[in-house]
Amino acid sequence: MAIGTTLKQPLNTSRQTQRHKPMQTEHLFPNATDLDRAANILLAGGLVAFATETVYGLGGDARNDHAVARIFAAKGRPRFNPLIVHVANLDQARRYGAFDARAMAVAAAFWPGPLTLVVPLRPDSGLSPLVTAELPSVAIRVPAHPVAQALLTAFGGPLAAPSANRSGRISPTRAAHVFDGLSGKIEAVLEGGTCSVGVESTILGLLGAPELLRPGGIDLETLEAMLGPLQTGGSAIKPSAPGQLASHYAPNASVTLNVTVNTAGAVHLGFGPDAPNCRSSLNLSPGADLIEAAANLFHLLREADLLAGPDGAITVAPIPENGLGRAINDRLRRAAAPRYL
Ligand code: AMP
Ligand code: MG
Repeated sequence: MAIGTTLKQPLNTSRQTQRHKPMQTEHLFPNATDLDRAANILLAGGLVAFATETVYGLGGDARNDHAVARIFAAKGRPRFNPLIVHVANLDQARRYGAFDARAMAVAAAFWPGPLTLVVPLRPDSGLSPLVTAELPSVAIRVPAHPVAQALLTAFGGPLAAPSANRSGRISPTRAAHVFDGLSGKIEAVLEGGTCSVGVESTILGLLGAPELLRPGGIDLETLEAMLGPLQTGGSAIKPSAPGQLASHYAPNASVTLNVTVNTAGAVHLGFGPDAPNCRSSLNLSPGADLIEAAANLFHLLREADLLAGPDGAITVAPIPENGLGRAINDRLRRAAAPRYL
């Protein structure tokens, strides 16, 4: 898309969205004008659901904390689990993940297609920490669907894209399914007909011995023909079990939640306006906006940890347990949990 292209309509990604006012979700079609529109929405931090060969994905700029926070909000996900990054080709994938000879061979054999590879995250990836849930790995896929390819090419960057359904609901395989669940919560749906595979991508872990992390569009036998027997049943890197992530997530400082009065020596992470007897050192969202707080969460926890210093203490203001507040509190509770290192 040309630099400096102007938007035909103002984007609805401002405070209005953050207050959860419904927006008009546009139905876009894969022609040049609409693809340009979709790319513009994404570049401005908006969300576009799009067809892939597996299921419709809910896409947002994987480098933009606010866009990624909005994905979690639109889906109503109660937890910040890591998201798959979609790119147009292997060259782009290599900007975000470290591909050794084995990963290169698997990518060459199965991309574009319904296979996601989990590889080490490049330190210079520039991806939002919300996308990887602060793991040192990244899940990447090059989808084959021509509409997904056209969108990724028009956008030119990485799209975080979980399935475009409300959390806990069935994955969408038609644009109408996406409208059913997400109408009024996202900027646009890019039409791509009915998804041919209809189940999610297979996820292959390539951090150690090859491991099947999720069965999906490419079957086990096909992968094993190339890689030999795959490990299954979960490993230390599998991020779906929260407990396994606890030590990776934990700051060095102690963390105390729901604090409304300053404690001497502690770095206070605020939410909303400060109370007279509780000044915050850092604030997740001075305007008490949960999407902004989610976008800031991982960065500010790290900053608070640095400010607190060795053996320091972090206190955190109460966060409402609704909307994205549930995912924020889930993450904070794990930061505050006892350490067993
Ligand atoms: P989805 O909900 O379809 O986007 O699938 C996300 C799943 O991909 C997660 O639940 C993990 O199993 C896997 N995954 C995503 N990102 C990572 C990562 N950085 N490291 C390891 N596994 C990941
Ligand atoms: Mg899903």
